[in-house]
Amino acid sequence: MMSFSKPGPAAPALAEDVAATLERLGVRAALWRDGGREVRSPITGEVVARVHDAGRETVDQAIGQAEQAFRAWRRVPAPRRGELVRRLGEELRAAKADLGRLVTLEAGKVTSEGLGEVQEMIDICDYAVGLSRQLFGLTIATERAEHRMMETWHPLGVTGVITAFNFPVAVWSWNAALALVCGDPVVWKPSEKTPLTALAVQAAFERAAKRFGDAPEGLSAVLIGGRDVGEQIVDDRRIPLVSATGSTAMGRQVAPRLATRFARALLELGGNNAAIVAPSADLDLTLRAVAFAAMGTAGQRCTTLRRLFVHESIYETFVSRLRSAYASVPVGDPRDEGVLVGPLIDEAAAAAMAEALAQADAEGGQTHGGVRLSGAGAYVSPALVEMPAQSSVVLRETFAPILYVMPYADLDAAIDLQNAAPQGLSSAIFTLDMREAERFVAADGSDCGIANVNLGPSGAEIGGAFGGEKETGGGREAGSDAWKTYMRRATNTVNYGRTLPLAQGVRFDL
Ligand code: NAD
Repeated sequence: MMSFSKPGPAAPALAEDVAATLERLGVRAALWRDGGREVRSPITGEVVARVHDAGRETVDQAIGQAEQAFRAWRRVPAPRRGELVRRLGEELRAAKADLGRLVTLEAGKVTSEGLGEVQEMIDICDYAVGLSRQLFGLTIATERAEHRMMETWHPLGVTGVITAFNFPVAVWSWNAALALVCGDPVVWKPSEKTPLTALAVQAAFERAAKRFGDAPEGLSAVLIGGRDVGEQIVDDRRIPLVSATGSTAMGRQVAPRLATRFARALLELGGNNAAIVAPSADLDLTLRAVAFAAMGTAGQRCTTLRRLFVHESIYETFVSRLRSAYASVPVGDPRDEGVLVGPLIDEAAAAAMAEALAQADAEGGQTHGGVRLSGAGAYVSPALVEMPAQSSVVLRETFAPILYVMPYADLDAAIDLQNAAPQGLSSAIFTLDMREAERFVAADGSDCGIANVNLGPSGAEIGGAFGGEKETGGGREAGSDAWKTYMRRATNTVNYGRTLPLAQGVRFDL
């Protein structure tokens, strides 16, 4: 039986809980009371705040101020810029419990995931502080005597950040921590579904900037609003880089508009992530990994596991255990201890899930779970769907906890099936066979930006570059050399001699 937890009697009323949390986080009431845009908590679906949309003029002014801030910030030495990010990390550490709580209240994540998201912000701040002393270029051998050729990395300009509801604060920090140490101001348009957490992050930034002392005005701005605010950012020529996270449909609109003005696009779009369970897999480990990757965050991660290929020799053994896990996972109020799956973000998400399950049924699927549960808020039991083949519903990203399971006989065919999805974000193989593991991560293996062995496709660390190929958009954020996107590269050649040799032996003697 599915276990469903209702809010305990001790839970404070939602609106009061949100108000008290915002107050502790230092967000002025004027920013979230009496505005024209309702903010609903997915926990009950009720309105918990009313925020103010930024009008065209406000957006225009914020971008203008960010551009001015850029002129000052680019001249501040990078390690000193890192000092601001270090202070931001300190503010986030101090606010972790409350900000994590607000993520739970506004996005519906269970407590440990709300806190984990804030921890991710802290981690990327630490990373960026170190990075602020490592923004290095190369020195390159030149063909000309008494010359030196090198590359230098300079701040790029204002970075526009557009984010999705499901990581309401972490995605901003992946971008902002790097952009700030790279010398770029940040203008942020959060999801219209999660503006409160954005206001709280901006309050933390402002405290950090105050303690820092001489950060220019407008270095970080939050612009609340819908798609129109996002479009204004995308079209503004003063913003040379836009990092946009969200659906592939959004990326399809944003990418050509940025291309029209030759701006950089860092796109982090939809995923339809798969895993392969090979005959040698450690099934205890695999079960836990699959359960978290498919059901965690109520299936609302870009890296959520949505397609599972299980070798036919272990299919019944493994899938029967998976069915039991699905039948017993605790779903309910994300504030409650022990709950692992909270609500979907809204009714539209529940409707999209029901529609996908109906299509899966029509395509020959056998569904376990996937039912609407009682209670205010869009609570559903996660669905495990055994499919006869990878039909069209399986190849579509439905942003809900649906895991399609299919048997396979041959690893090459399974890898081909995995790569057949239009998206290319994350992937995994579970195997103890070294040849299979290496094959999966080789050039002719997984075609995704992330390919894991013996862990699920979700839950990336910030140290690696994060992002995916194909319809996921190709962007890379967070670790490795993702910082280069936020800077412009200059190749400098210096002639310290008295002659002027031309490259390629060209002669031009006057
Ligand atoms: P969404 O596409 O509906 O909205 C994302 C953001 O884009 C919002 O802030 C929205 O206002 C803005 N937006 C929408 N259309 C726009 C336009 N034409 N111009 C400018 N801005 C526009 O996405 P969502 O429902 O909030 O999030 C879920 C989706 O995001 C899923 O597809 C998920 O896979 C994806 N996602 C991807 C990543 C990743 O890193 N690859 C991370 C999180 C979420």
